[in-house]
Amino acid sequence: MAWFKKTRKPIASSTAEKPSRVPEGLWVKCPDCTQLIYNKDLEASLNVCPKCAHHFRIGAAERLTSLFDDGQYQEHFPHLMSNDPLQFADTKPYKERLRKTRESTGLDDSVIVATGRLEGLDVVVAAMEYSFIGGSLGVVAGEKITRALELALDRRHPAIIVSCSGGARMMEGALSLMQMAKVSAALARLDRAKVPFISVLTDPTTGGVTASFAMLGDLNIAEPKALIGFAGPRVIEQTIRQTLPEGFQRSEFLLEHGMLDLVVDRRDLKSSVARVLRFMRATPAAAAPDRAPVLAAARSES
Ligand SMILES: [Zn+2]
Repeated sequence: MAWFKKTRKPIASSTAEKPSRVPEGLWVKCPDCTQLIYNKDLEASLNVCPKCAHHFRIGAAERLTSLFDDGQYQEHFPHLMSNDPLQFADTKPYKERLRKTRESTGLDDSVIVATGRLEGLDVVVAAMEYSFIGGSLGVVAGEKITRALELALDRRHPAIIVSCSGGARMMEGALSLMQMAKVSAALARLDRAKVPFISVLTDPTTGGVTASFAMLGDLNIAEPKALIGFAGPRVIEQTIRQTLPEGFQRSEFLLEHGMLDLVVDRRDLKSSVARVLRFMRATPAAAAPDRAPVLAAARSES
C-alpha cells in the first residue's frame, strides 16, 4: 500500500468548450476528446473525429457533396427569398437579419434542394443549413422542401431530407408553423404514391422540424449523439418537475425508446441510405429503362 494517497480528486479541467463549427486554421481541437486533428484529416473523415467519432456540424453544401456520387448534384430553386411578411423586428429588423445572413452564408434561405445520384440511385435531397438563422423552418424553407417532395413525386425518385434546425422561424410567426402542415401534406402524397422518404436527423433537430417531417420518414435515421427533441430539456424539467435521465433527447436514447430506426455514423451514412433504398426497391438509374418488362413479367406471374 502506498504511503501517500491522494484523498482529493484533482481539479477538473474545464474541457466544456462550446461545440463550434470547424474553425479556420490547420489544426482543430475535438470538443469531445480534446485531440488535435489536422484539418485535412478531419475533412477526409467527413468532419468526424478519427479518435472518438465526435460529429462536427457540417453545412448543407458539404452534406450534399458527401451524399452524392463524386460530389456532383444539381441545385433547384436556389433564389427563393423571404419577403418579411410580418415586417418583424426583434433586436434588429428581420429584413436586416436576412440580408446579413445571406451575405455570410451565400445562401438565400436555410434549405438547399438538389438532385443527383447516390450510389447510382436517382434521389432528391433537401438539406438544411444551420448557419442560416439556426436552420429555421420559415415560409421559404417550407416551400423549398415541399417543391423537393413534389419533384420526387413527379420523377418517382426517393426523397431524403437532412434536418439540422432549431425549429420554426419565429420571425414569420404562424406562417412558419403552417409549413409543418404543408410539408407533412406533401409527404402524405408521396406516401400514397409509394415513393420512399428517408429522414436524416443531425445535431440539432428540434422544435417544429422534429414535430413534423423529421419524424415522418419511412425510415428515420440519426447521426450519433445528435440532439433531437421538441422542447429543450430545461423547459421539460420545469414543466414536469422531474430530473431527466442521462442522455435524454440524444439519438441513442431515442433509438432505445423506439423513436428512431437507425443511428448511423456519418462515414457510413451514404452506403446505409443506398442499402435501405435498394431494399425499398429503388432501381439504379442506368437500369431504369429495363424495369418495365420486369414489372410486366411480375404482373403476369401473379
Ligand atoms: Zn474526438
